[in-house]
Amino acid sequence: MPRYYVNRNAQANGDHEVHKEGCDWMPSSKIDLRIFSNCESAVAAAENYYSTADGCEHCCKACHNS
Ligand SMILES: [Zn+2]
Repeated sequence: MPRYYVNRNAQANGDHEVHKEGCDWMPSSKIDLRIFSNCESAVAAAENYYSTADGCEHCCKACHNS
């Protein structure tokens, strides 16, 4: 199962994007969310840090809202 991370820095729209291990768009400043079986669980964990957490459109497309 992959490891997920959430960006410590918000996007222009205020979202904190969640990335899966190996994503080309992985930020350097990030929080390790640990390992999850799916992006839904990873985004839910990221929401404990940032209420505006959202899946990366490249590596977590199923969990990408905006
Ligand atoms: Zn990503």
